[in-house]
Amino acid sequence: MPTQGGEVLDFSRMNRVLEVRDEDFQADIEPGVIYQDLNESLRHKGLFFPPDPGARATIGGMIANNASGTRTVRYGATKDNILKLTVVLANGEVIETGTRASKTSSGYDLIHLFTGSEGTLGVVTKATVRLVGLPVEFSAAIATFPHVEAAARAVFEIIRSGCDPAFLELLAPECIELINKEMCLGLNPSPTLFMEFHGITEDQPAEILGMVEYICEDQGCEEFRSGLGRDERGRLLKARHDMAEMIRRNHPDCSPMVTDVAVPLTAYSRMIALARKEAHESGIPGYIFSHAGDGNIHLHFEGKSGDEKVWQTIDRINEHIVSEALKAGGTATGEHGVGMGKRRFMEQEHGSSLIWMRQIKQMFDPNGILNPGKIFLDGE
Ligand SMILES: Cc1cc2nc3c(=O)[nH]c(=O)nc-3n(C[C@H](O)[C@H](O)[C@H](O)COP(=O)(O)OP(=O)(O)OC[C@H]3O[C@@H](n4cnc5c(N)ncnc54)[C@H](O)[C@@H]3O)c2cc1C
Repeated sequence: MPTQGGEVLDFSRMNRVLEVRDEDFQADIEPGVIYQDLNESLRHKGLFFPPDPGARATIGGMIANNASGTRTVRYGATKDNILKLTVVLANGEVIETGTRASKTSSGYDLIHLFTGSEGTLGVVTKATVRLVGLPVEFSAAIATFPHVEAAARAVFEIIRSGCDPAFLELLAPECIELINKEMCLGLNPSPTLFMEFHGITEDQPAEILGMVEYICEDQGCEEFRSGLGRDERGRLLKARHDMAEMIRRNHPDCSPMVTDVAVPLTAYSRMIALARKEAHESGIPGYIFSHAGDGNIHLHFEGKSGDEKVWQTIDRINEHIVSEALKAGGTATGEHGVGMGKRRFMEQEHGSSLIWMRQIKQMFDPNGILNPGKIFLDGE
């Protein structure tokens, strides 16, 4: 977004999968490849690239904001699945960084520096990504709870038990009502956990689900429905991925503001309760959905465009939630990045290390030509 004028780089024609080395579980790709298209092209090899943001994102965009999604609880975020990068620096130099080995302890980790740098340190022109095998067997379930705190506590217990969910998502009742309205799924409009477990035999994930059912019942679960077939699981997964767009469609006169805090799991239940209370008391349409297994919470507000009072309330709630997340040892942004909207929280989150981030920016881009106005507040 060229907020200060400038040139926009369009990667849509750099969209080739250059090489797939299936026996190394790696692919070399260009930044304009859309991750869903990459996974479609890998399906016949039984492989996939696991980070899955809700958006139809390019690999370049995913690397730039360290995107993650429903499968991150098992497979990590984008940064955990990048092995090598080719990057064009601000001075025109082209560097390659990283290794094709699955691990390294050689030198500074520039992969993790560029991943999540939001286009402010260099332009990614090629990436070697890590692939994983498609799961052989899966078992999916939904569990509903009397209140979100109980669902949040179940999340903690599921992770603690070592059940290793492939995804573990929490949807508040208002999201379930929307899904029922748009997709006629007839779900119980209660706080709901939607989860999936993988295994190599049919019995393995089913056995895990038995244990998870017991955990959920212990937390006051009202309904536990396991053994979802491929179709039902596919519809639920689509509903979860389309959540943000569904909300937008239902509020045509409004604009969105989405919180993206992530907290340690021990603070998760408290943060979910806080977000729920704030949303409820504000009277503004607010939807809570969460990558529960990562402690990542989205409170998606739809505020009337131009209504100053509504936007002041949304701003206040956002500040409060971020501030509480930071006090709990969390972050202002689990996956969406800083951009412009979260620059004001950088000092509170990073303290004196923000000075070192500025120095890194200065070293890579002394003239400030790469995505100016992002991450740092001017004059900070
Ligand atoms: C409906 C919706 C749902 C979403 N859900 C999720 C989610 O679940 N998880 C999540 O992590 N995110 C989510 N997002 C955010 C989304 O993941 C990111 O916006 C996405 O990764 C960006 O990809 P893009 O191709 O759209 O990139 P763009 O929006 O085009 O770019 C994003 C940033 O990357 C930089 N950039 C792009 N390409 C390069 C490159 N080659 N080199 C250097 N910098 C580059 C740009 O400068 C910009 O700062 C969602 C967004 C929407 C609209």
